[in-house]
Amino acid sequence: MSNYDSISQEISEIAKKLLKESKVDKVIGFGLGRFTKEITPIFIKKAEDADRLIFNKNCEMSLTKYLLNYKGEKVAIVAKPCDSRAINAYLSEDLIKREDLVIIGINGCPGIEGNTACEECNIRNAVICDYSVGQEMSEEEIQAEIEGFEDEIDKMNQAERLAYFQNEFERCTRCYACREACYVCNCEQCFTDSNKPKWLGESVKLNDNFTYHLMRGIHMAGRCVNCGACEMACPEGIDVRAFAAKMCSAAEEIFDYKSGMDPEQKTLLSEYKVDDSEKGFME
Ligand code: SF4
Ligand code: SF4
Ligand code: SF4
Repeated sequence: MSNYDSISQEISEIAKKLLKESKVDKVIGFGLGRFTKEITPIFIKKAEDADRLIFNKNCEMSLTKYLLNYKGEKVAIVAKPCDSRAINAYLSEDLIKREDLVIIGINGCPGIEGNTACEECNIRNAVICDYSVGQEMSEEEIQAEIEGFEDEIDKMNQAERLAYFQNEFERCTRCYACREACYVCNCEQCFTDSNKPKWLGESVKLNDNFTYHLMRGIHMAGRCVNCGACEMACPEGIDVRAFAAKMCSAAEEIFDYKSGMDPEQKTLLSEYKVDDSEKGFME
């Protein structure tokens, strides 16, 4: 597994070179907030500022969504392996152009503190990049890293799962931080904000909260890359990723489909046949 300091150094060097040679207008990466000294997304435009770019165990955000703000500009982005999958998904949905993008992909991702996605993560090398940093991990090394992981939710029966998620979603204040943190949630108008029709009440009662999470969960099928950014963003400590992650594991189990592995790959729900005899999510 790679080490945070050497990855940080490599990222800064590549960013410096790209900016010095005017290959990109800006580099999107992680750095320390000027006043808070906490990890925050930063946008570096000058080569002399490239040393501000770092990577450490607290770089929990997915930066991919920022690419939508800079369409038509030449931008470099630092991508953890899970974020590189999100970039592939945007490319496959034609939301961004490959020629506008320079990807600095992290190999041998050492993971993020407190992110439960990392406990089961088996894609530890960037799946698409122009420059790679860190040390590529072999399949054996990756398997050793996740050895012993057991999905507690998978062990529950239906009633236990319902009770578990009821307990989680009861605490939800519908701040929508999970939606904002997620690369998938990029609709111009989210169903949560619609008033014609109105899908949700204003309350934060369990039934409205459940509706939000169920509807968002359906939108995650075949798109969630299991990065855990939603869970890390939640101020109430709700296990919000588990819901979306279940849609990922179901897609993998039923359709042998893993999202974001290839920029040419179509999203799971954008292709269907009316006479399809395969088992579906609803069965
Ligand atoms: S889920 Fe965790 S370990 Fe896997 S690529 Fe993302 S940050 Fe790294
Ligand atoms: S971030 Fe947490 S509290 Fe906010 S809407 Fe999502 S699950 Fe609810
Ligand atoms: S729903 Fe999936 S893709 Fe979106 S932030 Fe959560 S784990 Fe990442």
